[in-house]
Amino acid sequence: MLFPQAMDLVDVRDVRVARTRPQTVPLPGEVVLGGGTWLFSEPQPGVHGLVDVTTAGWEPWTRTPDGLRVAATCTLAELAAIPAQPGWSAQSLFGTAVDALLGSWKIHRVATVGGNLCLALPAGPMIALAAALDGTALVWTPDGGERRVPVLDLVTGVRRTTLRAGEVLRAVDLPEHALTARVASRRASLSALGRSAAFVLARRDADGTFVLTVTASTDRPRQVRLPGVPTDVPTDVPTAADVVDAVDAIGDWYDDPHGDPRWRRATTLRFARELRDELAGGAA
Ligand SMILES: Cc1cc2nc3c(=O)[nH]c(=O)nc-3n(C[C@H](O)[C@H](O)[C@H](O)COP(=O)(O)OP(=O)(O)OC[C@H]3O[C@@H](n4cnc5c(N)ncnc54)[C@H](O)[C@@H]3O)c2cc1C
Repeated sequence: MLFPQAMDLVDVRDVRVARTRPQTVPLPGEVVLGGGTWLFSEPQPGVHGLVDVTTAGWEPWTRTPDGLRVAATCTLAELAAIPAQPGWSAQSLFGTAVDALLGSWKIHRVATVGGNLCLALPAGPMIALAAALDGTALVWTPDGGERRVPVLDLVTGVRRTTLRAGEVLRAVDLPEHALTARVASRRASLSALGRSAAFVLARRDADGTFVLTVTASTDRPRQVRLPGVPTDVPTDVPTAADVVDAVDAIGDWYDDPHGDPRWRRATTLRFARELRDELAGGAA
């Protein structure tokens, strides 16, 4: 198979096409290739080989007894095209998150969910989506084993994850309790087609628990999880003041050309209040 883009990576000598699990393991000097929309976009010093996992034949998505499994190789376009599943109100966030990556449809058709997670940019919309829905990453270890880690803990900073040498992200599992929750989101950017500067996703669970996931305005996904409050309706979300205080306690606002940290904080707090109000009252 010809990889014209790999020819721009001048140090790359070999591209391996993985068809079996052992073939997916990146060896020293190799990195895993998803859609390549980032890997082929800049020099990759020290990278001598690519391991293409998009050829491994993983189903892009499957329903599981406890929800949804999204393969690491599922493209953003495939994720957005999953047919609406009865009762999964949170599925509305799939398209929202895909649209938050302001690439053309050509990028959406190639970029993978796994590539977005492993790249670990603050504005990674698949990180936001998976963290907001209590996603768990299924990681293949090079010895043939596997481990599971909440997406919230997988991404630890800008371009930093807890993936170790030789590990491959195989899939992300999204649980039913989150998929059936009420959700809402807000996104801000400095320009109409700019990268996300704040992308905040809210979830209200059946027991009234309010889960607010903050991304893009922080260097890694941050989450505020507050219990429901008993009222004359069975339970309601916490007060706006409690939500805003909890979000403000994050205290660590990201600073890059996509937004001043003070503006990011103010925008995130406004979003937190709006999202709390949007999901307050009514049925869970
Ligand atoms: C116009 C444009 C706009 C963009 N906007 C955004 C944006 O808003 N937010 C954002 O986050 N990114 C953005 N990107 C960057 C990039 O396109 C996306 O992050 C994309 O989702 C990366 O996915 P990929 O499959 O192409 O990853 P690749 O480029 O193939 O890989 C990315 C990284 O993940 C690793 N990797 C891939 N798959 C696995 C796996 N299964 N296991 C272990 N490691 C793996 C690779 O080794 C590499 O380090 C943009 C790119 C373009 C061109």
